[in-house]
Amino acid sequence: MFDKILIANRGEIALRIQRACRELGIKTVAVHSEADKEAKYVKLADESVCIGPAPSSQSYLNIPAVISAAEVTDAEAIHPGYGFLSENADFAERVEQSGFVFIGPRAETIRLMGDKVSAKDTMKKAGVPCVPGSDGALPDDPAELVRIAKSIGYPVIIKAAGGGGGRGMRVVHTEAALINSVNMTKAEAQAAFGNPVVYMEKFLEQPRHIEIQVMADQHGNAIYLGERDCSMQRRHQKVLEEAPAPGISTRLRDKIGQRCADACKRIKYRGAGTFEFLYENNEFYFIEMNTRVQVEHPVTEMITGVDIVQEQIRVAYGEKLRLRQKDIQFRGHAIECRINAEDPYTFVPSPGRISTFHMPGGPGIRVDTHAYQNYMVPPHYDSMIGKLIAYGDTREQAIARMDIALSEMVVEGIKTNVPLHRDLMNDAAFQLGETSIHYLENKLGIHSK
Ligand code: ADP
Repeated sequence: MFDKILIANRGEIALRIQRACRELGIKTVAVHSEADKEAKYVKLADESVCIGPAPSSQSYLNIPAVISAAEVTDAEAIHPGYGFLSENADFAERVEQSGFVFIGPRAETIRLMGDKVSAKDTMKKAGVPCVPGSDGALPDDPAELVRIAKSIGYPVIIKAAGGGGGRGMRVVHTEAALINSVNMTKAEAQAAFGNPVVYMEKFLEQPRHIEIQVMADQHGNAIYLGERDCSMQRRHQKVLEEAPAPGISTRLRDKIGQRCADACKRIKYRGAGTFEFLYENNEFYFIEMNTRVQVEHPVTEMITGVDIVQEQIRVAYGEKLRLRQKDIQFRGHAIECRINAEDPYTFVPSPGRISTFHMPGGPGIRVDTHAYQNYMVPPHYDSMIGKLIAYGDTREQAIARMDIALSEMVVEGIKTNVPLHRDLMNDAAFQLGETSIHYLENKLGIHSK
């Protein structure tokens, strides 16, 4: 096994990776910005290196600084976590060219999946069902655009090939608005992502967001670890996640899961990955693939007993997957609430010093957080300060345990979204399950574009 791994991330995921390393007997190097130098997980790491000032562009996104840190500490591999450099193909390439192992897929796979047009094309060829839409990038000819939209059927959505984070999308309801919308999305895509390529999809009116977790090794083996429902979203950002997805039959799970695992074999995928789908009228429609560990991975760990981060490290080292598909059993139900330092209803970030910090516990409760009493939540990064995960034999038990855990959780000195999560645990529609991606915004009276 590796002797030493550098963790190119911060916050709860840096701590999560550190714990996985420790369990595997691997030494860790924490890299951190000046703003994170006092963080407890930085002190808990075997070694730490300051890689720059607070702004992430000068620290966590600074490729030469991260690679130099690996060189001076003699690390063998780099785990990128999620966000930051985790889906940056150039970074993955530089890591491997510098003689380190990148804990993730090959750079060419990241590049292929990072462009949504090539990702969709690849998945279509691999037999993964996609949202009906244009055959690749949209042409310039207006008559051709009108014809494509008509054949898909309105409403349609124009999406940027290089888009991400819920940006670079525009819904079109009528032919009259089509050409203008395509041109505007192209201009925005060029400005935001440096790539004007856009494509067109059928706009699904009431879908759910359901994703499949996969794990593949470098010996041609790939398995699926079931699905997660991440429909509770605001501005295309996930608020809470659960596994399994309510109402999905074993047959349907196995069918879509197997398609994803087969696609992994076909593209020679390596490591952990997620196939994101929209789900409507019992059909799955692929939208994109995330080539990294996800924030919501713990709900899958809770119902499968698989440690996803440890498996990532093992397959990166070259080990064969120890589990076969038939060994994977789904037991019980898990829910994750993302705990953010923000106003629970306006979502305005609330950084600052945490004066009181009491975490819940008890049967089925897991807390993944790097925060503690007196911790200073820096204003420079994502507002997530931790994740509360509740497991139960049934969905009802998981909800009940989550509600109790949220009631025990005390975080003072900053605002958090705990009241919103309590509200959701007691929401009749959430309790029934199967709410769409628009449910939360409708509930909050937010009307997105
Ligand atoms: P990003 O990479 O920016 O997250 P995605 O392609 O994953 O973009 O889409 C993000 C969200 O946008 C989805 O979870 C869904 O809420 C909405 N969306 C994307 N495509 C469609 C579509 N064809 N119909 C309806 N909603 C869509």
